[in-house]
Amino acid sequence: KLSKRLQAVADLVKSDSRLLDVGSDHAYLPTYLVQQEKIDFAIAGEVVKGPYQIAKNHVAEQNLQDKIEVRLANGLAAFEEGDNISSIVIAGMGGLLISEILEAGKEKLSQVEQLILQPNNHEESLRSWLVAHDFVISSEKILLEAGKIYEIIVAEHGTSELNETELEFGPYLSQEKSEVFRKKWNKELSTLNKILDRLPEKHEKRAEVQAKKEKIEGVLQ
Ligand code: SAM
Repeated sequence: KLSKRLQAVADLVKSDSRLLDVGSDHAYLPTYLVQQEKIDFAIAGEVVKGPYQIAKNHVAEQNLQDKIEVRLANGLAAFEEGDNISSIVIAGMGGLLISEILEAGKEKLSQVEQLILQPNNHEESLRSWLVAHDFVISSEKILLEAGKIYEIIVAEHGTSELNETELEFGPYLSQEKSEVFRKKWNKELSTLNKILDRLPEKHEKRAEVQAKKEKIEGVLQ
Protein backbone atom coordinates (compact mmCIF):
# COMPACT_ATOMS: atom_id res chain seq x y z
CA LYS A 1 0.00 0.00 0.00
CA LEU A 2 1.30 3.42 -0.94
CA SER A 3 1.51 6.37 1.41
CA LYS A 4 -1.33 8.87 1.04
CA ARG A 5 1.12 11.23 -0.69
CA LEU A 6 2.35 8.70 -3.25
CA GLN A 7 -1.21 7.45 -3.79
CA ALA A 8 -2.27 10.99 -4.70
CA VAL A 9 0.66 11.18 -7.14
CA ALA A 10 -0.27 7.77 -8.61
CA ASP A 11 -3.89 8.86 -9.10
CA LEU A 12 -2.72 11.76 -11.28
CA VAL A 13 -0.66 9.65 -13.70
CA LYS A 14 -2.50 9.19 -17.00
CA SER A 15 -3.61 5.62 -17.71
CA ASP A 16 -1.48 3.78 -20.25
CA SER A 17 1.29 6.34 -20.10
CA ARG A 18 4.92 5.32 -20.43
CA LEU A 19 6.31 6.59 -17.16
CA LEU A 20 9.65 7.83 -15.91
CA ASP A 21 9.84 8.10 -12.13
CA VAL A 22 12.86 10.26 -11.29
CA GLY A 23 14.31 9.51 -7.85
CA SER A 24 12.20 6.40 -7.55
CA ASP A 25 13.90 5.21 -4.34
CA HIS A 26 12.30 1.75 -3.77
CA ALA A 27 10.36 1.94 -7.05
CA TYR A 28 7.12 1.74 -5.05
CA LEU A 29 5.25 4.09 -7.39
CA PRO A 30 5.97 2.31 -10.71
CA THR A 31 5.46 -1.09 -9.03
CA TYR A 32 2.04 -0.03 -7.79
CA LEU A 33 0.95 1.45 -11.13
CA VAL A 34 2.02 -1.64 -13.10
CA GLN A 35 0.39 -4.02 -10.58
CA GLN A 36 -2.83 -2.01 -10.79
CA GLU A 37 -2.54 -2.34 -14.59
CA LYS A 38 -2.83 1.41 -14.93
CA ILE A 39 0.39 1.45 -16.97
CA ASP A 40 2.50 -1.30 -18.50
CA PHE A 41 5.90 0.33 -18.86
CA ALA A 42 8.01 2.41 -16.50
CA ILE A 43 11.58 3.46 -15.92
CA ALA A 44 12.60 3.89 -12.29
CA GLY A 45 15.52 6.32 -12.27
CA GLU A 46 17.86 6.65 -9.29
CA VAL A 47 21.10 8.55 -8.99
CA VAL A 48 22.23 6.92 -5.74
CA LYS A 49 23.52 3.33 -5.82
CA GLY A 50 21.88 2.14 -2.57
CA PRO A 51 18.29 2.99 -3.50
CA TYR A 52 19.00 1.91 -7.12
CA GLN A 53 19.96 -1.57 -5.89
CA ILE A 54 16.96 -1.74 -3.55
CA ALA A 55 14.66 -0.71 -6.41
CA LYS A 56 16.21 -3.34 -8.68
CA ASN A 57 15.73 -6.07 -6.06
CA HIS A 58 12.18 -4.95 -5.34
CA VAL A 59 11.22 -5.05 -9.02
CA ALA A 60 12.82 -8.50 -9.39
CA GLU A 61 11.01 -9.86 -6.32
CA GLN A 62 7.71 -8.78 -7.84
CA ASN A 63 8.77 -10.32 -11.15
CA LEU A 64 8.22 -7.08 -13.02
CA GLN A 65 11.61 -6.79 -14.78
CA ASP A 66 9.97 -6.89 -18.22
CA LYS A 67 7.76 -3.88 -17.40
CA ILE A 68 9.90 -1.77 -15.08
CA GLU A 69 13.48 -0.89 -15.98
CA VAL A 70 15.54 0.38 -13.09
CA ARG A 71 18.29 2.69 -14.28
CA LEU A 72 21.16 4.33 -12.43
CA ALA A 73 21.08 7.87 -13.79
CA ASN A 74 20.96 11.53 -12.87
CA GLY A 75 17.54 13.11 -13.46
CA LEU A 76 16.26 13.04 -17.02
CA ALA A 77 19.40 11.23 -18.23
CA ALA A 78 17.43 8.09 -17.27
CA PHE A 79 15.55 8.07 -20.58
CA GLU A 80 16.15 8.42 -24.30
CA GLU A 81 13.88 9.39 -27.12
CA GLY A 82 13.35 5.75 -28.06
CA ASP A 83 11.78 5.03 -24.66
CA ASN A 84 8.76 7.11 -25.71
CA ILE A 85 8.19 8.41 -22.21
CA SER A 86 4.89 10.28 -22.00
CA SER A 87 4.69 11.05 -18.26
CA ILE A 88 7.36 12.01 -15.77
CA VAL A 89 6.98 11.93 -12.00
CA ILE A 90 9.44 13.79 -9.78
CA ALA A 91 8.28 13.47 -6.17
CA GLY A 92 9.55 13.88 -2.66
CA MET A 93 12.30 16.38 -3.37
CA GLY A 94 12.79 20.08 -2.88
CA GLY A 95 11.23 22.36 -5.46
CA LEU A 96 14.62 23.81 -6.39
CA LEU A 97 16.08 20.37 -7.09
CA ILE A 98 13.04 19.47 -9.21
CA SER A 99 13.49 22.71 -11.21
CA GLU A 100 17.20 21.92 -11.66
CA ILE A 101 16.44 18.40 -12.90
CA LEU A 102 13.92 19.78 -15.41
CA GLU A 103 16.29 22.56 -16.49
CA ALA A 104 19.20 20.14 -17.04
CA GLY A 105 17.09 17.95 -19.35
CA LYS A 106 14.66 20.47 -20.79
CA GLU A 107 15.47 19.69 -24.44
CA LYS A 108 14.16 16.13 -23.82
CA LEU A 109 10.75 17.27 -22.65
CA SER A 110 9.14 18.01 -26.03
CA GLN A 111 7.83 14.44 -26.42
CA VAL A 112 6.61 14.25 -22.83
CA GLU A 113 2.92 15.02 -22.34
CA GLN A 114 2.59 15.21 -18.61
CA LEU A 115 4.73 16.20 -15.63
CA ILE A 116 3.54 15.20 -12.15
CA LEU A 117 5.64 17.05 -9.60
CA GLN A 118 5.54 16.86 -5.83
CA PRO A 119 7.91 19.44 -4.37
CA ASN A 120 8.45 19.43 -0.61
CA ASN A 121 9.05 23.20 -0.65
CA HIS A 122 9.76 26.15 -2.99
CA GLU A 123 6.58 25.51 -4.95
CA GLU A 124 6.72 29.10 -6.19
CA SER A 125 10.09 28.67 -7.96
CA LEU A 126 8.90 25.48 -9.57
CA ARG A 127 5.71 27.13 -10.89
CA SER A 128 7.84 29.98 -12.26
CA TRP A 129 10.13 27.51 -14.02
CA LEU A 130 7.13 25.76 -15.59
CA VAL A 131 5.53 28.96 -16.86
CA ALA A 132 8.84 30.29 -18.20
CA HIS A 133 9.35 27.06 -20.14
CA ASP A 134 5.91 26.91 -21.74
CA PHE A 135 4.20 24.52 -19.40
CA VAL A 136 0.72 25.16 -18.14
CA ILE A 137 -0.43 23.85 -14.80
CA SER A 138 -3.40 21.59 -15.47
CA SER A 139 -4.19 20.57 -11.92
CA GLU A 140 -2.98 20.82 -8.36
CA LYS A 141 -3.55 18.90 -5.15
CA ILE A 142 -2.74 19.63 -1.54
CA LEU A 143 -2.85 17.01 1.19
CA LEU A 144 -1.99 16.38 4.79
CA GLU A 145 -0.19 13.22 5.91
CA ALA A 146 1.38 12.57 9.31
CA GLY A 147 1.34 16.26 10.16
CA LYS A 148 3.02 17.31 6.91
CA ILE A 149 1.43 19.21 4.07
CA TYR A 150 2.29 18.29 0.49
CA GLU A 151 1.49 19.94 -2.82
CA ILE A 152 1.31 18.17 -6.16
CA ILE A 153 1.54 20.09 -9.43
CA VAL A 154 0.56 18.58 -12.79
CA ALA A 155 1.77 20.36 -15.94
CA GLU A 156 1.40 19.98 -19.70
CA HIS A 157 2.82 21.89 -22.68
CA GLY A 158 1.09 25.21 -23.22
CA THR A 159 1.35 28.86 -22.40
CA SER A 160 -0.22 30.74 -19.54
CA GLU A 161 0.38 33.74 -17.39
CA LEU A 162 0.33 33.46 -13.65
CA ASN A 163 0.34 36.47 -11.38
CA GLU A 164 2.42 36.67 -8.22
CA THR A 165 -0.36 35.28 -6.03
CA GLU A 166 -0.97 32.34 -8.35
CA LEU A 167 2.75 31.53 -8.46
CA GLU A 168 3.03 31.51 -4.71
CA PHE A 169 -0.27 29.96 -3.66
CA GLY A 170 -1.07 27.92 -6.77
CA PRO A 171 -3.61 28.90 -9.47
CA TYR A 172 -6.02 26.12 -8.51
CA LEU A 173 -5.20 25.76 -4.82
CA SER A 174 -5.78 29.48 -4.21
CA GLN A 175 -9.19 29.28 -5.87
CA GLU A 176 -10.27 26.10 -4.14
CA LYS A 177 -9.05 27.18 -0.66
CA SER A 178 -9.41 23.71 0.82
CA GLU A 179 -9.14 23.01 4.51
CA VAL A 180 -5.54 21.79 4.11
CA PHE A 181 -4.64 24.88 2.09
CA ARG A 182 -6.04 27.07 4.88
CA LYS A 183 -4.10 25.05 7.43
CA LYS A 184 -0.84 25.53 5.50
CA TRP A 185 -1.20 29.27 5.20
CA ASN A 186 -2.56 29.77 8.72
CA LYS A 187 0.59 28.04 9.96
CA GLU A 188 2.65 30.46 7.89
CA LEU A 189 0.66 33.35 9.39
CA SER A 190 1.43 32.22 12.91
CA THR A 191 5.13 31.94 12.01
CA LEU A 192 5.03 35.51 10.72
CA ASN A 193 3.23 36.66 13.89
CA LYS A 194 5.97 35.12 16.01
CA ILE A 195 8.57 36.94 13.93
CA LEU A 196 6.71 40.23 14.43
CA ASP A 197 6.53 39.60 18.19
CA ARG A 198 10.30 39.32 18.32
CA LEU A 199 11.10 42.30 16.10
CA PRO A 200 11.58 45.64 17.89
CA GLU A 201 8.92 48.33 17.32
CA LYS A 202 10.77 50.27 14.65
CA HIS A 203 12.74 47.48 12.99
CA GLU A 204 13.11 47.88 9.22
CA LYS A 205 11.96 44.29 8.58
CA ARG A 206 8.50 44.82 10.16
CA ALA A 207 6.94 46.31 7.02
CA GLU A 208 8.10 43.40 4.90
CA VAL A 209 6.70 40.81 7.32
CA GLN A 210 3.49 42.79 7.67
CA ALA A 211 3.09 42.89 3.87
CA LYS A 212 3.58 39.12 3.67
CA LYS A 213 0.89 38.65 6.33
CA GLU A 214 -1.56 40.85 4.47
CA LYS A 215 -0.97 38.96 1.25
CA ILE A 216 -1.79 35.66 2.94
CA GLU A 217 -4.82 37.14 4.71
CA GLY A 218 -6.03 38.46 1.37
CA VAL A 219 -5.84 35.01 -0.20
CA LEU A 220 -7.50 33.30 2.77
CA GLN A 221 -10.50 35.66 2.78
N1 SAM B 1 10.13 9.64 -5.26
C1 SAM B 1 10.05 8.89 -4.01
C2 SAM B 1 8.92 9.41 -3.17
O1 SAM B 1 8.35 10.44 -3.52
O2 SAM B 1 8.60 8.77 -2.16
C3 SAM B 1 11.37 8.98 -3.25
C4 SAM B 1 11.70 10.33 -2.68
S1 SAM B 1 13.30 10.33 -1.94
C5 SAM B 1 13.08 11.46 -0.64
C6 SAM B 1 14.27 11.20 -3.13
C7 SAM B 1 15.04 10.26 -4.03
O3 SAM B 1 15.50 10.98 -5.16
C8 SAM B 1 16.25 9.67 -3.35
O4 SAM B 1 16.22 8.27 -3.47
C9 SAM B 1 17.43 10.28 -4.13
O5 SAM B 1 18.51 9.39 -4.25
C10 SAM B 1 16.80 10.56 -5.48
N2 SAM B 1 17.41 11.64 -6.26
C11 SAM B 1 17.83 12.86 -5.82
N3 SAM B 1 18.32 13.59 -6.83
C12 SAM B 1 18.20 12.83 -7.95
C13 SAM B 1 18.55 13.02 -9.32
N4 SAM B 1 19.13 14.15 -9.73
N5 SAM B 1 18.30 12.02 -10.19
C14 SAM B 1 17.74 10.87 -9.77
N6 SAM B 1 17.40 10.63 -8.49
C15 SAM B 1 17.63 11.59 -7.59
